[in-house]
Amino acid sequence: MAGKTPAPFPKPKVELHVHLDGAIRLKTILHYARKREIQLPAENEHELQKLISCGKPSTLTDALLKFSYYMPVIAGSREAIQQIAYELVEDKANEGVIYFEARYSPHYLANYNVHPLPWGQSEGDLSPDEVVQIVNQGFQSGQQDFGIKVRSILRCIHHMEAWLTEVVQPCKEYENEGVVGIDLAGDESMDCNSHPGHVQAFEMAMKYGVHRTVHAGEVSPPRVTREAVELLKAERIGHGYSVIQDPLLYKELLHKQIHIEACPYSSVLTGACDPDYTKHPIVTFEKDKANFSLNTDDPLVFNSTIHTDYIIAAEYMNFSEAEFMTM
Ligand SMILES: [Zn+2]
Repeated sequence: MAGKTPAPFPKPKVELHVHLDGAIRLKTILHYARKREIQLPAENEHELQKLISCGKPSTLTDALLKFSYYMPVIAGSREAIQQIAYELVEDKANEGVIYFEARYSPHYLANYNVHPLPWGQSEGDLSPDEVVQIVNQGFQSGQQDFGIKVRSILRCIHHMEAWLTEVVQPCKEYENEGVVGIDLAGDESMDCNSHPGHVQAFEMAMKYGVHRTVHAGEVSPPRVTREAVELLKAERIGHGYSVIQDPLLYKELLHKQIHIEACPYSSVLTGACDPDYTKHPIVTFEKDKANFSLNTDDPLVFNSTIHTDYIIAAEYMNFSEAEFMTM
């Protein structure tokens, strides 16, 4: 599969798993690098694309490393953050998406009171809370201008336990301004049993009526998905491919209609799944009428659009028109 593809699916689409910071325009990164005088090892869009794209199957760790090249350019800038939120709405509207939920870590986009940031830049006055307000404003303007509906999910990072409750609070505080849920992402191998902070934070989210999704079973064993459902009370699972290796757990997910946010193209480029799409876990999900969706995940890093994922489903997974409609 090549990257950017023409629009073969003009029908309305819904996308539930896309990272705001993994869906930024190259042009915008270059613009803010110049404006903020931040050195990038790339001069133009072509070079930047080469630097941060996963063109062929790699590892999840490699894919995540790409973020550290460009995040310092956006993080800490109110103007840049509002612009990337606004532009994502425009890009999704152009892809025929009528509703999407974008997720992001407020801490990764802030530069105040945030330690440690993976890219080592935390001197400034932009707090995670204000980041949420700015993203809300960007999405709000985008909704008005492009006529589609946008919601957001605030993301916790596995190894940053100190941030957990700081993410739960704004989920509650901004529920009327477009924030609809909480997510947990990062190193999936971390055991929730030995990190009670995760469980406490998600219990707090549940108490507040905040909806919960968890990245699990992407490159990790089914046990991690089980923990997400049983300990973190996840209502949706990000990726979840390995769940089919545990028939009991898979049956439970089917029975409870737990939604799986599947990302076909991403799953191959991160090395989570075999490149043979005809044997992909999504084919099993489809056959068993699981509750799932197709998503891009990080279209900037994968040089893709939602059409890339829909083409894969149509060409290699035999999705019918009715199946696309169900999603
Ligand atoms: Zn993701």
